[in-house]
Amino acid sequence: MSNSVRSEIIKALENQKEIFGDELFTSSLLKTEIVTEKIPSKISKEEPFLFSNTQETWETADNLDNLNKLICNCTKCELHSGRNKFVFGIGNHKADVLLIGEGPGAEEDKQGEPFVGRAGKLLNDILKAINFTREEVFIANIVKCRPPGNRTPLPEEMESCLPYLLKQIELIKPKLILCLGLVAAGAVLKKKDSLGKMRGKIFEFNHTKVMVTYHPAALLRNPNFKRGCWEDVQAFRKLYDEVK
Ligand code: URA
Repeated sequence: MSNSVRSEIIKALENQKEIFGDELFTSSLLKTEIVTEKIPSKISKEEPFLFSNTQETWETADNLDNLNKLICNCTKCELHSGRNKFVFGIGNHKADVLLIGEGPGAEEDKQGEPFVGRAGKLLNDILKAINFTREEVFIANIVKCRPPGNRTPLPEEMESCLPYLLKQIELIKPKLILCLGLVAAGAVLKKKDSLGKMRGKIFEFNHTKVMVTYHPAALLRNPNFKRGCWEDVQAFRKLYDEVK
């Protein structure tokens, strides 16, 4: 093995250790059971009701910048009234990987960029541990405006905002989606299952494979979730290597 390969492996292991801790190096990993489940997509041709009747201008956007311009002054739900900045999403417009969080927090609302606070720093580290950079993926949220006091977005707020995310998915055409937390997973997969039930499975949504893991903020609150997250993201990376 060459020195450069060896030092790259050591660097990768150090990154993983820094984020996920020691014990992960000693126990058997990847016990994740992969079960593929097809999710009926609301943007499929068979179910055109979402875009029925009159088409709104933003629906005709043919790239992300254009879409952002057309939706950034949205007033469809009450969240717009407390908005400082509309948080469209960030990253590679042709990314193979799309990460979906819940909604902007205070820092994200201030900067107009998703995952820039403490949870964002952890997300960057998690990505690094599985050899992705923030720049090569795309990061978005279920709702684009900050819920007051960081409360969970209301069902009607998610319903208003979800078509924007679906349009983002249509334009980016990611190969894989990783839902961060129960709110994102429930909204994308239209499931009421617990996070535990959705983790370790591969769902198929409109030809895109979807996996689910903990929200980084949950890991900050409860470090015991780190092991499970590590298993999830390794399985996600493995899947990426298979489909890319
Ligand atoms: N939490 C989220 O779900 N999204 C962000 O952008 C920041 C924190």
